[in-house]
Amino acid sequence: MLTQAPKGTQDMLPSDAHRWQKIEAAMRSVCALAGYREIRTPMFEHTELFARGVGDGTDVVQKEMYTFEDKGGRSITLKPEGTAGVARAFIEHHLFAEPLPCKLYYVSCPNFRYEKPQAGRLRQFHQNGVEVFGAKDASVDAEIIALALDVLRACGIEGLSVRINSIGCPQCRGAYQAALKEYLAGKLDSLCKTCNERFERNPLRILDCKEDVHKLTDAPEMLDYLCEDCRAHFAALREYLDALGVAYSVDPRIVRGLDYYTKTVFEIVTPTEDGELTVCGGGRYDGLIEQLGGPATPGVGFGMGVERMLLVQQMQGASEDEAPLYDVFVATMGQAARLEGMKLVRELRENGLRADIDHACRSMKAQFKYAGKAAAKNVVVIGGDELEKGVVKLRDMENSVEAEVARDKIIEILLEMKGE
Ligand code: ATP
Ligand code: MG
Repeated sequence: MLTQAPKGTQDMLPSDAHRWQKIEAAMRSVCALAGYREIRTPMFEHTELFARGVGDGTDVVQKEMYTFEDKGGRSITLKPEGTAGVARAFIEHHLFAEPLPCKLYYVSCPNFRYEKPQAGRLRQFHQNGVEVFGAKDASVDAEIIALALDVLRACGIEGLSVRINSIGCPQCRGAYQAALKEYLAGKLDSLCKTCNERFERNPLRILDCKEDVHKLTDAPEMLDYLCEDCRAHFAALREYLDALGVAYSVDPRIVRGLDYYTKTVFEIVTPTEDGELTVCGGGRYDGLIEQLGGPATPGVGFGMGVERMLLVQQMQGASEDEAPLYDVFVATMGQAARLEGMKLVRELRENGLRADIDHACRSMKAQFKYAGKAAAKNVVVIGGDELEKGVVKLRDMENSVEAEVARDKIIEILLEMKGE
């Protein structure tokens, strides 16, 4: 128990660090190219923010939140998703007073949901995401979809499909919801327990149920109920995606789990051996800022699951080799040489070379063995003789050649070797 991470959590081990660092770097560079700026919000918020923002009737709020009372008697929740916190910050810090749109992104932001752990479903997971406030045109919906694809592709993820839908706005959704409920009412006996619970509080979500999906193929579709404004927005989105050369399919079953969505919703999925995995989900939330007490401001964003990306990379056999830890390992014999070695390592690092020295008091032989295991490209040897002569021995580990080099030339030589 003591040495076992809690159920549904995952350690990110150093042997995998290069993988998630690459995902983070891809997100940062793609976002920076499109004028997005980074935001980081707290890992926990007042519970009320999610109840109001994400929606009381959603599965997330009803069943999945990590909520507790802090020592001051406040109800606190570990954030289950990224948008509500960013929306709160947008209002609190009056970002609406700055030139709009306000384009924001976040990287590897931790999210917490009390879900049944399974492949690709954790209780603490991480999301890369964007939120854009103050832009109502569907051009920005298309921009973020293209941007998500760019990030996923830069991470070597293949076979991506984009699915889009519109879930309308509060004006047109009512009529649809009524039609859907009428359709579902006769089918409740055949639907799962959760869907029966959803019938009153969140009937749209029933369409998204993994168990009941095949039973609802003739359900009424939101697209047939869209008001003029929502219809025009959806048509514009399709036009923009076409212009960008982004292939997509319209999937009337995508409803998303969070209440704040309006108009556009989308998912990006990738095939796996047993079905498909959603790596990214997002949509528009034009009512959220006002609902949270800010000035009416449209918004649109997505969240992308970092662990899901890692899983897909692994399933698709992406072999991303870890770069060797060191350019140079400095092996020394005797205390005087060791002092010189410490100095040299510092200089090497100052010159941008990845360098290290033995800290475990190993023999010369064991130092070489360690350098070999760490795949150091070169070993610099300093012993009493070398110190006296003002030289070092440079061993090229790949080609097993050794040369004596002047101490004051070694950095230059190693830099040259690295530049090759
Ligand atoms: P799903 O339908 O898979 O439950 P969701 O609709 O709950 O997804 P969002 O809230 O839109 O997901 O989150 C965006 C992305 O975050 C998802 O597409 C997925 O990649 C990832 N994600 C969501 N929940 C989890 C989880 N429990 N563990 C790992 N990743 C997750
Ligand atoms: Mg979910």
